[in-house]
Amino acid sequence: MEVVVEDCCATKNSPVTVDTEINCPQCGHKGKGIKIITMKSLLLPEALATLEADGDYRMCSNPECQVVYFNGKGGMYRTQDLKVPVFPKSDDPDCPICYCFGWTRRKLKADHDQVGQSTAVHEISEHIKAGRCGCEVNNPEGSCCLGNVKKYLTSLSGT
Ligand SMILES: [Zn+2]
Repeated sequence: MEVVVEDCCATKNSPVTVDTEINCPQCGHKGKGIKIITMKSLLLPEALATLEADGDYRMCSNPECQVVYFNGKGGMYRTQDLKVPVFPKSDDPDCPICYCFGWTRRKLKADHDQVGQSTAVHEISEHIKAGRCGCEVNNPEGSCCLGNVKKYLTSLSGT
């Protein structure tokens, strides 16, 4: 038996085929899948007002490119369309790397310089273990920040 779910919020003509390879229209970088909930949480009202809820969006993770989200149908959102600066597209020292718990470049560097070894990774790991993370709705990448935090700390130790 086939069950057809009628959802009042569902859009007609949702695309059935999923195009897995969509590249950034600006820089050609390969797009990374992004959940719509992440975009709904982080887009500014004017940008959100143009969102296609079934739009199959991707994220451009090229730091040099100002396009954040895009789809294959000309939909595009840039860094200024988001409520938060986008790591690593922003070089602002106050740009968060861990969005959930507020670890910015500046805070991570200060912690690293003071203690000699950052407490951030341990602290963030404890929060993850306790189930407090909200990466899906806080981090423009929609995924765990820990990899980016570690990479940044490694770059500090390297110099
Ligand atoms: Zn791009």
